[in-house]
Amino acid sequence: MRAARYYDQKDIRIEDIPEMELLPGTVEIEVAWCGICGTDLHEYLEGPIFVPPAGHPHPISGESAPVTLGHEFSGTVTALGEGVTDLKVGENVVVEPYIINDDVDTSKGQSYHLSKDMNFIGLGGRGGGLSEKIVVKRRWVHPIGDIPLDQAALIEPLSVGHHAFVRSEAKAGQVAIVGGAGPIGLLTAAVLKAEGLTVYISELSEARKAKARETGVADDVFDPREVNVAEKVRELTSGKGADVGFECSSVPVVLDMLLDAVKPGGVVVNVSIWGHKPAVDMPKIVLKEIDLRGTIGYAGDHPDTIALVQSGKLDLAPFITGRIGLDELVSGGFEQLINNNEHHVKIIVNPKA
Ligand SMILES: [Zn+2]
Repeated sequence: MRAARYYDQKDIRIEDIPEMELLPGTVEIEVAWCGICGTDLHEYLEGPIFVPPAGHPHPISGESAPVTLGHEFSGTVTALGEGVTDLKVGENVVVEPYIINDDVDTSKGQSYHLSKDMNFIGLGGRGGGLSEKIVVKRRWVHPIGDIPLDQAALIEPLSVGHHAFVRSEAKAGQVAIVGGAGPIGLLTAAVLKAEGLTVYISELSEARKAKARETGVADDVFDPREVNVAEKVRELTSGKGADVGFECSSVPVVLDMLLDAVKPGGVVVNVSIWGHKPAVDMPKIVLKEIDLRGTIGYAGDHPDTIALVQSGKLDLAPFITGRIGLDELVSGGFEQLINNNEHHVKIIVNPKA
């Protein structure tokens, strides 16, 4: 089968590789669509980061570069390993792409994503969504019912937004301010809106402001060059401030704005990955008793995220901004996202095309 293999920084090759073996307890999936993620771009430009470098096998997967890429994918079940009886061949599914030690409790309510040596399918080994087929342990396969397969490729990043929402402990009727309308900012806002919050977004880029408006994920979008966003949020909340803030930009002034914009006793969830250590306004955190919380990946979020999409409260279609075949992965996918990133949310790849 054809697959996109990560060898090293700036070295991704489309190759023919053997299909994966269907072992007891696993599911074979024909991949329909696979999204390209910021993490993939970081591996391409600055990696290997999550990818175990050649000669340094990952402690759980036992694999090192070259590895198959792609962790945001949907597909159709084509075969069931021995003992898998609760899925059907022909059923559409997505994968929660974790590589986690067998002795970790991965049941609902457990923080299995924080376990030692956690990595991701499509980065740390065990195949990937940028190939025609993949074999995955049953635990990580989630049925999606009649959600279209192209939109379903976005359930993985949407689950990141869902987990950020869960971490915030926000409730319907509350007010959220999201800093940054890149893919994760937009998808986090989409979850918040679907969960019944009032959502404000702060963003500089014209293209991203337009996307935040046209997708309907924000009640209003503010440009920090035009308005003092924190003041504007207070104005809209009778002087109180937002209940929750979400940092989705990894820009220090955005973090400052969020600490300013949330109410005393409010919560700020950091969703973005920081390449450097920002100066944090600790006096503000102290004097307002703000909870600053981290969030990474997801744990037990996929079923609720899928249900949210099935409910019709959230439309993933407008976030798909490009569709390509596997041969165009680098030129039409990675290079597009690097050079033209403001105009894209998600480019999805059909591995069979
Ligand atoms: Zn990702």
